[in-house]
Amino acid sequence: MKPPPLKKKIQTTLLRWFNKNKRDLPWRKTHDPYSIWVSEIMLQQTQVATVIPYYQKFLNSFPTIRHLAKAELSKVLKVWEGLGYYSRARNLHRASQICLNHFHGKIPDNLEDLLSLPGIGRSTAGAILSFAFNKEAPILDGNAKRVLSRLFAVPGNSGERKTEQFLWEISESLIPKGYANPFNQALMDLGALICTPKDPQCYKCPLCNLCKAKASGKPEKFPSRSVKKKIPHIRAVCAVIQKDGKVLLKNRPPKGLLGGLWEFPNWKIEGKQRSRLRLSLRNYIRKQIGMNVEVKNSIGTFKQAYSHFKITLQVFKCQFLNKKGKGKWVPIKELIQLPMSRIHRKIAERIKVIT
Ligand code: SF4
Repeated sequence: MKPPPLKKKIQTTLLRWFNKNKRDLPWRKTHDPYSIWVSEIMLQQTQVATVIPYYQKFLNSFPTIRHLAKAELSKVLKVWEGLGYYSRARNLHRASQICLNHFHGKIPDNLEDLLSLPGIGRSTAGAILSFAFNKEAPILDGNAKRVLSRLFAVPGNSGERKTEQFLWEISESLIPKGYANPFNQALMDLGALICTPKDPQCYKCPLCNLCKAKASGKPEKFPSRSVKKKIPHIRAVCAVIQKDGKVLLKNRPPKGLLGGLWEFPNWKIEGKQRSRLRLSLRNYIRKQIGMNVEVKNSIGTFKQAYSHFKITLQVFKCQFLNKKGKGKWVPIKELIQLPMSRIHRKIAERIKVIT
């Protein structure tokens, strides 16, 4: 592909701006590939301010790739608890074991091997290669995608393959020789600080005079987005089954949404069931856990929004009556030791207060 016009001007302007305005971030104080990899995985889907304390806690708990690979998955999930998108933690854990077994305990320094690891896509690989190894690898995270779409007024939806491919080509062709690290970070910072999604502050932007979207008068129209689908709302009933100071928990399957986390048994409710919550709950517990309980008072209604759905859980205290059933009995004071999703952690906190 031909280099975009004004390539040199864009490179020098952006690097000069970055030199004066870069954010002071903990993962920028190191070239350690492992620390950079952890930060890049955490930054997928999550804001910088949220990531910082988790990044520090994670590296304190697992200071090297070997520590991570040798740790129990439930310990990794516990340290990750609250950060969301738990498949990232599972993939980090799995990838660290692959590095230990196949790459001499090191993060690979080439694109092909990085892409073979779970959880690493092309942009994360580009970030690791450029930040840790200063290799001339492009990135195309959300910030870079937005800045480049606007700078060149790229038509089409940035989620479409053809448009994305074009943006990759632009990103690659712009990297100044020997300066991949600061240039990629500069793209990220410009997108995070100035070229923001809804309200780009073009008057502060170093690329203002070079930007085609700015010249169009409607920079926020780039990149064009697909219409958002309506998010489904799941309603469910949930049981806190108690026996001798313990509560019954179940472990989610290791793969899929919230995989490996612990939670109070719960079931989706629909139609008529909504008016007979206690009866539905008792029947579910009998059929699916194989246990008889007495459903007692409500503990409350708990809500959580995820990226693809939202959920409302109506939670009831239940007293164990008989039959062994399936699940793990956990003393209430030990609930804090198990990894749980945000909504189940809130339930656990409520139980501690009311029991
Ligand atoms: S001029 Fe405006 S739209 Fe263009 S890159 Fe800068 S902030 Fe973004």
